[in-house]
Amino acid sequence: MAIDVFRPLRWLLGLFSLDIGIDLGTANTLVNVRNKGIVLNEPSWVAIQKKTKEVVAVGQQAKEIAGRTPSNIIAIRPLRDGVISEFEITEAMLEYFIGKAHEHSLVPIPSPRVVIGIPSGVTEVEKRAVYDAALAAGAREVYLIEEPTAAALGAGLPIGEPRGSMIVDIGGGTTEVAVFSMGGIVLSRSLRVAGDEMDQDIVAYARNKYNLLIGERMAEKAKIAIGSAYPLWEEKTFTLRGRNLVTGLPESVEVSSIEIREALSNSVNVVVAAIKDAIDETPPEIIADLMEIGICMAGGGSLLQGLTERLTEELKIRVWLADDPMTCVARGAGRILEDYDILKPLLVGLERGSTAR
Ligand code: ADP
Ligand code: MG
Repeated sequence: MAIDVFRPLRWLLGLFSLDIGIDLGTANTLVNVRNKGIVLNEPSWVAIQKKTKEVVAVGQQAKEIAGRTPSNIIAIRPLRDGVISEFEITEAMLEYFIGKAHEHSLVPIPSPRVVIGIPSGVTEVEKRAVYDAALAAGAREVYLIEEPTAAALGAGLPIGEPRGSMIVDIGGGTTEVAVFSMGGIVLSRSLRVAGDEMDQDIVAYARNKYNLLIGERMAEKAKIAIGSAYPLWEEKTFTLRGRNLVTGLPESVEVSSIEIREALSNSVNVVVAAIKDAIDETPPEIIADLMEIGICMAGGGSLLQGLTERLTEELKIRVWLADDPMTCVARGAGRILEDYDILKPLLVGLERGSTAR
């Protein structure tokens, strides 16, 4: 067996360089620092001064003030539907998060190497935007990886092997479905129905059924507390608070998990249909593999109660939840730099004519 004489050297170098994997999600951004793990996990929110565009808060703090901001401040999510819609604000957010990750390195290294996830099927311009934002935020080198690939790596799926595997990543803005074999994506689907849409479903339900106007954050709380995709062992209730649209006065309404399930059913059905569609197009050999290892789910939306049961029943294939599903993309992105020589084929390039490699 060959002895790796460079190993101690690489270890030493590792102490002085900063490698980070970033999951720039529509809902949450996670930063994974090599040898440290996930050092940051915060909502992708930024609060800015309306006039000067000066950033007043980022992450958790910004999300908390959303919907309650004074008129001169607005809280925004710079990513919508998985892609950057507000370039400068995304850049400011990344800069802040990368800066925070720096606090975890032994010596003040100015610029890290960064692997960052992008949704599958985004345009060249959208890819460039992520790449440029990371560079502008202070990265020395930037590599891009498709989020489903990073999620599958983070979930420990055997994507480098000839046998097939499948991941469903339900985030805030998008649901991504991808089938892998031999280290490549055989087919993928990306749809703009995910966690945010489910929150909107609950807002609409409360308005239509109870004339109750509730905020998105209240809707999200109800979804996380009692939302489901399959009948629960014990149905529960939740108190929605908002404003009655008829009287204009504050009001509380107690809703049951059965009602919330009904509210969410449209979005859940769309997600189920998209996965069925993908399975329809999957080559039969790979279907046989899936019947063995099942379909893996990742992303915050996959935590919706009863979703794995519902999918397993409808798809006739076992559907399981990855370990720690909300950190899969960040963990997978981080793994690339650990095993760069082996894993680099998984990275995606930018087209010629751009400044990227
Ligand atoms: P993104 O990759 O877009 O940033 P995440 O993977 O972080 O998204 O997932 C965020 C979404 O997951 C949000 O819509 C959030 O409401 C939803 N979510 C988080 N926890 C739960 C839960 N326990 N049940 C249902 N949805 C959840
Ligand atoms: Mg995500």
